[in-house]
Amino acid sequence: MELYKTDRIVALKSALYELMDFNTSQFEYDTFIAKVLESLKQFLNASEVSLYKCNEWKGQLFLEYSTNPVKKGKDQPLNIACEEIEKAISEKEYFYCNFSIADFEEYELVLPINGEGLPLGLLAFKEGVEKFPSYDASFFAVLTKECTNLLKTAANIAKIVAEEKRYKQLFRVTEKFHSSMNMDAVLGEIIYTLQEVYPSFTYFLLLSHDNNNHENLPIKDLEYDSENIAAMQAYVTGSVQIEDSIQERKSVLYAPLKGKQGVYGVLQVISSDTLVFPKNEVEFITLLANTAGSALENAQLYQQSKRLVADLQLINETSHRLNSNLRLTDTINYMRGQISKSFNAKEVGFIMISSQNETKPLPGSSDFFKSNEATRYIQYIFDKINKDKESIFIGDLKFSDEKEEAKYKSIMAVPMVQSEELKGFAIVLHEQPYYFSFEMFKLLQSLIHHSTLAFTNSILREELENMVVTDHLTKLFSRNYLDEKLKESMKVDKEGAFILMDIDHFKKVNDTFGHQVGDDVLVQVAGLIKSSIRNSDIGARWGGEELAIYLPRVNLSIGKTIAERIRRKVEENTDPNITVSCGVSYWNTGLKDTTITLFKRADDALYIAKNSGRNRVVVQNQTL
Ligand code: GH3
Ligand code: MG
Ligand code: MG
Repeated sequence: MELYKTDRIVALKSALYELMDFNTSQFEYDTFIAKVLESLKQFLNASEVSLYKCNEWKGQLFLEYSTNPVKKGKDQPLNIACEEIEKAISEKEYFYCNFSIADFEEYELVLPINGEGLPLGLLAFKEGVEKFPSYDASFFAVLTKECTNLLKTAANIAKIVAEEKRYKQLFRVTEKFHSSMNMDAVLGEIIYTLQEVYPSFTYFLLLSHDNNNHENLPIKDLEYDSENIAAMQAYVTGSVQIEDSIQERKSVLYAPLKGKQGVYGVLQVISSDTLVFPKNEVEFITLLANTAGSALENAQLYQQSKRLVADLQLINETSHRLNSNLRLTDTINYMRGQISKSFNAKEVGFIMISSQNETKPLPGSSDFFKSNEATRYIQYIFDKINKDKESIFIGDLKFSDEKEEAKYKSIMAVPMVQSEELKGFAIVLHEQPYYFSFEMFKLLQSLIHHSTLAFTNSILREELENMVVTDHLTKLFSRNYLDEKLKESMKVDKEGAFILMDIDHFKKVNDTFGHQVGDDVLVQVAGLIKSSIRNSDIGARWGGEELAIYLPRVNLSIGKTIAERIRRKVEENTDPNITVSCGVSYWNTGLKDTTITLFKRADDALYIAKNSGRNRVVVQNQTL
């Protein structure tokens, strides 16, 4: 009998040992368990062998496998709590017809599977023809021990295989993350992996400051005033939060999307019908969430660096342009263009402050700044800048004293300060509230700070030019001076004549004799003009090789005679010999005239003179 018993144990061990012959890489837990149970059934001549297991997620007993094909419903829990099983087994090695749980009455033999690192289980046997009592207690003890070991090994291998698969997935996600700057691709990969690993869960990415459109991604905004306290807690503390709701029968896990520099959002994992997330699952989800956090951080840093590079390029290009001695209007036109383009602004204005503390929109500002409506914006900003000496960034402008809504709600204004003196300010407007971002505001500040010097220089230069009365080369008066004197004369005198003169084929002179000789010819013509007019007349350099003469209190026929006299003198007295063409215009108090229309008529006349053969005087005196 003893021998027989030993034989049976050896036979059992060898039967079970044979099962261990498998290829780990192709190991499938379910198939393996089925094989184990089938061979146990055969070995004991049992009519049924079933394995039950406590599910630590759900705290209940489930059927894992049965040799009885009628017993299905692997996913349906038996109405037995794990704690109840724990109590029932009370460290006994086997139960023969005396297991205290009602649902197990059909089984003659119940072996508690209680291995370290294994969830609590029960291996239950139904007798066949042969009764189990033919075995004795020591055999049952060995049976329990061997089965427990076998199941433990199986569970360990299954765990390793699953872990390997999971980390392969994690590796895939990380690889994607390192190979792509596309945030959506990385987030998509993370969601896809989670769905693969835990298909029954629901996932959301709760993102803060997310302005991008992510197609097909389960993304929600993370609101600061969110009622979702656990999500907020995960976001603020940067640690995983778990929220169990027994009433709703669900567990929600919040894993912060953490990068190196901050938390970018929260991954929400909802598992319905489950309570408690096991520790190693939490670890895996946390790893994924951290990958997502790093991806978001990288994408954000990348965008940020791209924007900074673009900003620097803009500032660099602008400074460069402004330092290339543009005229003031060109400077403003250029700046207006750059600002409109970069900020998508509706109106861009440059306002100068005079020494009398008056504001003056500079030409080149957008047309709005010429309108009456603009004055209250200008005044409002001027007052504020004067008071606070700081830039202004308003997202929803309301004029305190007016009921009517402001047309432009978004305002950025930056003072132009030179040598600690407020010279003016730039204004940028848009109708939509909160249209400009804070980054744009910062960029505008940089742009204005970099361009203020060029601006004030342009203004100074133009002021200087206006102050200069004589032309350096010809010693004739400057055009500005003529303009001023003409305006004065039109106020106090009754009439006057204006002659515009242009050297014929002057380019040829330069080309043939060189610029120096060209300059000399200009000086010769200027001298001939001076010698032909009185002190009260004004001979001026109009620009380039164009000269002008204003004859106050002179009528048209005298004006024409003087022009004719100069034309002839030039023809006879220049070396190298050149000729001039003249256009003559005239005003008197009877004609409605301005300096501009007077100039225009002379210019038209000059044009006719040029086109009808040159070296001649043409009068054009029809008011337009
Ligand atoms: P026309 O007026 O008869 O049609 O021919 P143009 O050759 O005089 O006409 P255009 O306006 O094409 O050329 C004017 C030239 O005058 C070009 C410019 O180089 C030269 N010029 C303008 N200002 C000065 C100057 O101050 N000094 C010299 N040397 N040349 C000048
Ligand atoms: Mg010309
Ligand atoms: Mg010419």
